[in-house]
Order: sequence, then C-alpha cells, then structure tokens
Amino acid sequence: MTRMRALPSVDRLMLAARAALGDTVPQAVLRDAARAELEHARRALQAGADADVATLDRLVQQVSTHLARLLTPSLRPLINATGVIIQTNLGRAPLSAAALAAMQAVGSGYANLEYDLERGERGSRTVHLEGLLTRLSGAEAALAVNNNAAAVYLALIALAAGREVIVSRGQAVEIGGGFRIPDVLRQSGALLVEVGTTNRTYAQDYAAAITERTALLLLVHSSNFRLIGFVHEPELAELAAVGRSHAVPLLDDLGSGTLLPTAPYGLAPEPTVQERVAAGADLVTFSGDKLLGGPQAGLIVGRRALVERMRRHPLARALRVDKTTIAGLEATLQSYLRGQATSEIPVWRMITAPLSDLQTRAAALAATLQAAALHAEVIACRSAVGGGSLPGETLPSAGVAVAPGADGADRCAARLRLGTPAVVARIAEGRLIVDLRTVLAEDDQILARRLREVVTSE
Ligand SMILES: *Cc1c(COP(=O)(O)O)cnc(C)c1O
Repeated sequence: MTRMRALPSVDRLMLAARAALGDTVPQAVLRDAARAELEHARRALQAGADADVATLDRLVQQVSTHLARLLTPSLRPLINATGVIIQTNLGRAPLSAAALAAMQAVGSGYANLEYDLERGERGSRTVHLEGLLTRLSGAEAALAVNNNAAAVYLALIALAAGREVIVSRGQAVEIGGGFRIPDVLRQSGALLVEVGTTNRTYAQDYAAAITERTALLLLVHSSNFRLIGFVHEPELAELAAVGRSHAVPLLDDLGSGTLLPTAPYGLAPEPTVQERVAAGADLVTFSGDKLLGGPQAGLIVGRRALVERMRRHPLARALRVDKTTIAGLEATLQSYLRGQATSEIPVWRMITAPLSDLQTRAAALAATLQAAALHAEVIACRSAVGGGSLPGETLPSAGVAVAPGADGADRCAARLRLGTPAVVARIAEGRLIVDLRTVLAEDDQILARRLREVVTSE
C-alpha cells in the first residue's frame, strides 16, 4: 500500500508532463496518456517491480513515449527486400512518379470528378478512365471499382442474381483472403452450376449445362496455383463461341491481368487483357494494383450493354473509386499509352531490371558492408512476380547474404523489421538475404545503413 502511495496523482503527472513536453497535445489526450501510464506503473508495482517505476521523471518519460507512439503512423513505408515484386501484405504495387503526382494534384484540392467543364454542369466520374481503358484493351466500354473482388461481385449481382452461372470444377477456387468463387456467387444471389471435373473440363461440358436460367459463363484465372499433368480447360475462344451460340455472355476473371506480354521478360506467357477481349470475352475483370502497377482498383472492360448494367446497378455506388484512385489509374494507363510502362511503372521496372544492374548494386552494397567489417557476400537468387500471378515463375536476381552474427538470423531479421525504415528480408540457411530486385535503387544507401545497424549491434 505504501508503495502505491508513492505514485503521483494524475494532475501532478500532467503538470510535470506539460512542463517537459510543452503544448503538443490537447489536455484530454494528455490526461488519457497520464492515466494509462499511471495504471501501468501501478500494475508493475503490484507485480513487484522496483519503486523507481513510480518516480515522476520516469513517468513523464513514459507519457512522452506513449504520446510519440500515438502520433507515429501505424501504416508506414518499408523496404521490401524479399524479392517478391507484388506482395499483397506489403501493399502490392509501388506507384509511378506520374501516378503519385496526379494523386497529389487532385487530392490536395478540388477536381472535375463529376463535373463537365465544357457545359458547366454535372458530369460522370466514369469518363476519366473509359477512353484509356477501351483504347488499351480494345473493348467497347469500361468501368473502375474498388478492387477486382468488387468487380467480380458487381458483375455477378448485376448480371446473374437469381440465375445460374456455369463454372468449371477446376476453377471453383479460393484466390486468398477468403475470396472463394462459390461463396462470392452465393452472396451475389447467383446459383453456381459446376461442370467438368477438377482436372478436366471441356467446352462441351458448359454447352450441356446451359438452360434458360443461365445468366453467365464464368472463367476464373488460376492466379495463385497451377494444375499440371492430365489437365484440360477449354480455350477462351471455344467457350466464347459456345456462349454466343446460346446468347449467354462470358465473364473472364483474369485476376492480375496485364497489358504487356510477360514472355519477352523470361516469364511464362500470362494472357493479356487485350488478347482476352479479342478472343471473345464479353467482360474481363482485373486488378489495378497487380501487374497493371497502379493503385488498388478493379477494372472491368467489355460489351457496352453489360458494362452499362453494372454501372447502373445500385451497388456500383458502394463500390466506386475516389478521385485520387482515378487520378493514379489515369496516369498509370497513360504510361502504357505512351509506350513507357517498362521505364515508368515500378512493377515493370522491377520485372525488366537487367540482371547486370542488380549485380552491380549488390556488389556496391556488399562492399559497403565489408568496409564496416561485416561478413557480406553477393549471391545469385531468384525473385518472384507474386500477387497471385505467374505461380512458380521466377526471375534470376542478385542479392547480398549477411552473416547475422551470434544472435542468429531470426533476431537479426526482427531488428531489421523494427527499425526505421523497416526492412523485410529473407532468411536462408541461417543467413539474412536481401534481394535487390524489389529494393528501389534510391533506397540502397538506406538499406546499407539498416543492415550495418542490426548486424553491428551484436
Ligand atoms: C487477385 C484476384 C482477385 C481479387 O482481386 P483484388 O483486386 O485483390 O480484389 C480475384 N480473382 C483473381 C483470379 C485474382 O487473381
């Protein structure tokens, strides 16, 4: 009890904290922090902690740390040294300078989001992207929503609620994060009709399942897994022909979707959006922040009448994108239109980065670390595209392996994550590996500093 009495009152602590910290936060925020830290100290004393946790100086220090934590962003930038280019947990695509500039320009003031400047009257927010998307994809019409999951959901609810959607058994899949095709279908009010088998489905299976209740044929890209061996799925063109002959539209959930071919860069061919449109898909949906390399969005391209039904559905309002997303997408799409995607869009800069450049950067990083007497070595490693695209496909890359010292690789990796900026690295065979392909070149010096900090602190 006497030990508890040693704790200052809330008012006394607040007064002392105010004197030490100045007018940095409102009184109510300071009071909450003071109460929380007093409570913390009280519990520490009860648990037998040393009496100096209750000194005024120590408590002021705790309140200061508490407030600093409150005012530090929870979401903050980090260095991705994992070698996975599109990492959903790390925020997917880094944005291009042009996209960021456009988002800043439009976000910091007003914009003609839904305002027709020529007529001086209300306009439509969909006009900003539709021209670019139709030109780049070859489709008649286009719409942007919050993400690709929303695009698929809106398509199903607007075009197939209360009716049947035919899906191959091999494509009734889970994309990740709880996005399961059968569940999304159920939620949209559409009825799933599965055809074929897990490994083999033919165009004829779809044709045989079509009835007057059929609203859509649905293709789902097997983004994050691959079936190999005795497998068959029909070509999109075959299926589009089946759909056309029964007047049933074909919806193609392309997942990542890409506007550039992947094969020239040593990757397996990923179908492009424009190929799918040309092959006869009536609607194609894809993500804005996977291989497109823009902000989070879901893009829908296809036949005008179908896109219009989605646009006019009441749910479209709930899934719409804001002005900064539209600005970022527009700038990103314009990089493709100018033919500058591989030099301007970070995801494509990383995919197309020449191995020799990565080796040069790795050598410079290793030399910096060696100059600080650390055990560092340039290694050959492999990067992945990630983001549920091109599963199993990797690109040759260069990295640096650092011997973590006595503490071991796990503790060293934890210190890398917990410093500023955080660095996420890989661990292989007891060593810390940083893959230079996913590190922005302008971050190389900062990465060197962070590695020196965590490895020399043994
Ligand atoms: C990634 C993906 C989705 C979900 O897209 P989000 O933009 O993350 O909502 C849906 N379908 C497929 C095939 C995907 O690869």
